[in-house]
Amino acid sequence: MTTNLLDFNAKQLTDYCAEIGEKPFRAKQLLRWIHQFGKADFFEMSDLAKGLRDKLSVIAEIEPPKVMSDYVAADGTRKWLLSVGSGNGIESVFIPEANRGTLCVSSQVGCALACSFCSTGKQGFNRNLTVAEIIGQLWWANNALKATSADGTILNDGAQIYQSQVADKNRAVSNVVMMGMGEPLSNFENVVTALDLMLDDNAYGLSRRKVTVSTSGLIPALDRLRERCPVALAVSLHAPNDALRDQLVPINKKYPIKELLAACRRYLTAAPRDFVTFEYVMLDEVNDSVEHARELVELVRDTPCKFNLIPFNSFPGSGYQRSSTEAIRIFRDVLIQAGLIVTVRKTRGDDIAAACGQLAGQVLDKTRRTKQLMAEAVK
Ligand code: SAH
Ligand code: SF4
Repeated sequence: MTTNLLDFNAKQLTDYCAEIGEKPFRAKQLLRWIHQFGKADFFEMSDLAKGLRDKLSVIAEIEPPKVMSDYVAADGTRKWLLSVGSGNGIESVFIPEANRGTLCVSSQVGCALACSFCSTGKQGFNRNLTVAEIIGQLWWANNALKATSADGTILNDGAQIYQSQVADKNRAVSNVVMMGMGEPLSNFENVVTALDLMLDDNAYGLSRRKVTVSTSGLIPALDRLRERCPVALAVSLHAPNDALRDQLVPINKKYPIKELLAACRRYLTAAPRDFVTFEYVMLDEVNDSVEHARELVELVRDTPCKFNLIPFNSFPGSGYQRSSTEAIRIFRDVLIQAGLIVTVRKTRGDDIAAACGQLAGQVLDKTRRTKQLMAEAVK
């Protein structure tokens, strides 16, 4: 069996080189070829000894997930559907803005946490992504963006303006948010190994401030992240009290709000930013009243934070409506008047279903898979 080198961070690649009788500096060379220059073919790695190239081409590979489709929205948002085998697909989304290019990365096929307003949650859990499948999204995006900026196709104005300013054409992605499909802290080891690569100067060289993990609030894993690899933190709060959050984010029954906020404050002692971003999905007549906003202000009084209000993105059968623009404005103003910093997320990539919570990919969940297998068996 060949070894997929996309699965390794710097330390693991160094260990691998030792195992096959190579010096540590080979790991650094490999890291740069694979991640910085986006190469998958050992024969293009010109400063590797010929013998090593021959050897690696037999025992190793660089195998990112395969791209099944590539959509570009009118506003320049770009979405890739990547195959992760067994008929499953995951999505990653690139959002170009004037001064940054953010990639929204998936961490699992489906999600077990079943938040009531999330299409990924509705699909159930299938499996964790491997390191190669997580970092492969970034590998792929940088390669695809480099290719399209070189030939000038596909990109619209917004994306082109951003790309024309990118200093390093190999690294068009300047920010990563772990806000695609899945709960990153449920896939801790693989996500953290991928984070190592995002931060490594020989790989993607992103600063800790520009890599954000978003979590629904798995407290023990949050404490481990603080020790192992503190990056910027976003927490999906979505409700100002336990009764409501229990309904929207069921993991709250295990890790209630007060304990979660205490974990956030612990996290901040090691974090690269001095605030937590609270995400708050705006659901019509569910969590969007002035009373909810006031309760929220009291709740976060001792926790340095910013708010990101996300207008609910609808999907078939969700059972929820997006709050009105007026309700969002009033809610935002209550927070602002209390001295909080608040942004309202712009909905991007509307025409290609690339918004938060809409990333459906293709997930054959266990129940459906079982049903399918049973249907096939009786054919
Ligand atoms: N599992 C992680 C990260 C992925 S979801 C988490 O829950 O934080 C990224 C953000 O999108 C989360 O804040 C999530 O609650 C939110 N979200 C999920 N479904 C949504 C929807 N339909 N509309 C708007 N935001 C949604
Ligand atoms: Fe999972 Fe996040 Fe969706 Fe909740 S919002 S079901 S944690 S992906």
